Amino acid sequence: MRKKIVAGNWKMNMNFSEAEQLLSAITEGISEKGKGDTELIICPPALYLNMASDISPDSDFLVGAQNASEFDNGAYTGEISAAMLASMSIDYCILGHSERRKYFHETDETLAIKVKKIIDHGMSPIFCCGELLEEREANKHFEVVRTQIEKALFSLSVDDFSNVVLAYEPVWAIGTGKTASPEQAQEMHAFIRSLIAEKFGTDAAESTSLLYGGSCNAKNAEELFACKDVDGGLIGGAALKANDFLIIANSFPKI
Ligand code: PEP
Repeated sequence: MRKKIVAGNWKMNMNFSEAEQLLSAITEGISEKGKGDTELIICPPALYLNMASDISPDSDFLVGAQNASEFDNGAYTGEISAAMLASMSIDYCILGHSERRKYFHETDETLAIKVKKIIDHGMSPIFCCGELLEEREANKHFEVVRTQIEKALFSLSVDDFSNVVLAYEPVWAIGTGKTASPEQAQEMHAFIRSLIAEKFGTDAAESTSLLYGGSCNAKNAEELFACKDVDGGLIGGAALKANDFLIIANSFPKI
């Protein structure tokens, strides 16, 4: 059985007291509404990781970072290492988000290093991949996603790969209100699962959680999560509202 996961990427939003309020609203929401067997992950800005991991044992969510350095330690002003995250009981780290690729020029080569460091420190990367609108329009989306995954993840051993969560995030759907249709999401997720099967074997492919991200919200999560190969979501804007986030967490098909 694959894990069902809903991860909230807060990006660079919320001041300290807003973050505190959102974390306590999520904690209350979990105890009121429940979350079934969905694994909830909160990825706040790095400054609030400590606060989130302090609360998380009393609540029912795990904590993820939004980035980690490719370096181990030393004179890298402004950076946060995988070892530092691990020392704060962080469970996950988003890597390869399209905003980091675009604004911070992260390449798949750098991401391969970051992915390995996160795994070596006992955490799980949530590795993001996805095509630009012009790449989809040119029918290059499968090729783009294949290259991102091959370059950043295919040097891992099967054992290391078992820690990876993937998020398919078509760039044209992030923060735009344009969601991929369930058919588009399912088609790409099935393709990603077949790539994993070719490289790491069917067991790995069947047990890897593949999340969809890109304007997933309280209204459309149910039809996206009903897709056979969609195991949850990486949620941006809708993760900033406790109620919506919990509706999304409870949007998996009831069996
Ligand atoms: C994201 O940034 O990972 C994301 C999916 O954002 P949004 O849900 O706002 O499109």
